Amino acid sequence: MFANAVKLFSFSGFDIKLDPSWALIAALITWSLSQHYFPSAFPDLGTATYLVMAVTAMLLFFASLLMHELAHSVVARRFGMKINSITLFLFGGVAEIEDEPQSAGVEFWVALAGPAMSFALAFGFWILKLITGLSQGLAEATVVLSYLATINLVLALFNLVPAFPLDGGRVLRAFLWNKTGDSLKATETAAKSGAVFAYVLMALGVFALFQGALISALWQIMIGGFLLAAARASYQQQLAKAVFGNRTVSEIMHRHPVTVPPDMSLTELGENVILHKGISFVPVVENGVLLGHIDQSMLGKIDREHWASMRVDDIFVGVDATTAIPKDMPVQELLARISSTGTRKFLVVSGHHLLGVISLADLIRYLNWPDHSRAA
Ligand SMILES: [Zn+2]
Repeated sequence: MFANAVKLFSFSGFDIKLDPSWALIAALITWSLSQHYFPSAFPDLGTATYLVMAVTAMLLFFASLLMHELAHSVVARRFGMKINSITLFLFGGVAEIEDEPQSAGVEFWVALAGPAMSFALAFGFWILKLITGLSQGLAEATVVLSYLATINLVLALFNLVPAFPLDGGRVLRAFLWNKTGDSLKATETAAKSGAVFAYVLMALGVFALFQGALISALWQIMIGGFLLAAARASYQQQLAKAVFGNRTVSEIMHRHPVTVPPDMSLTELGENVILHKGISFVPVVENGVLLGHIDQSMLGKIDREHWASMRVDDIFVGVDATTAIPKDMPVQELLARISSTGTRKFLVVSGHHLLGVISLADLIRYLNWPDHSRAA
């Protein structure tokens, strides 16, 4: 998910990583605290003092976010789930948990652990603030602690909004899942509430834009956009998992695709294969050996007047690592490859031998086939 994240350290067996996008939010927090928040909460201090306070607050906020994600991770690990890493990025933190929760109960406790930690931190900082508040000499610390108590409370409350994939949305999903026993349907409903919340957030952002609050407006619009994309992606992932389960490519591929030899003329390919049979992706095979593939877009680049004088082997693309896949590849892995490479059509191979072809369209057709989705 975060290709550029840098590992900072390990903590109790978890890899703590930092995505470069975090630098932007760290700078924004430090800037707004030192320029606006602290000077108005506690006037008449020096610029350097405000900066020290802001950096301290930013680092402790960073630690608070980490504690929130660690709480999720520790509980998830107790239930036997595997945690890849904890990454802090532009919109906060994320614990990359490899497995989906096995039951609604597990989902509930893992989701609740984060906000519970944020509430506990808010309470802890508030108590510390009361203690430092007793002494005049600790006034600066009191202001910083007061900010940290507030921000952790905000973090806990925001995450509890019942909008998937926020923690509150996961709690909602766990509740629906427990009630109906249908995890896919529960995800669908929770993801819809996530989308509604995302749109509300973006609308508020647009409203704030007209009010002239540029930074908070952009922030709301960006978070809204991020939540919307995340809600959609989680639902699609769930759907794919429910329908495809452990199925492999060989169960869905076309076993006897139309193939063409390399010496076929482009006229014959265009008229008799692509147009006549309505096939847009054709493997090129000679004497049982797979050489590569040719498709409609490659043919489309050649002027029709040249078709008669050219052959398939003038333009076809050889077998490459992206389009050639093994027959035992899990369908979910193929979906991940489609989204990361943009390639939509694949040759299923064993050595130099063609076993079949499979495309994104085949997978979508399979998804929409009611028999399979009911059976899942
Ligand atoms: Zn959380």
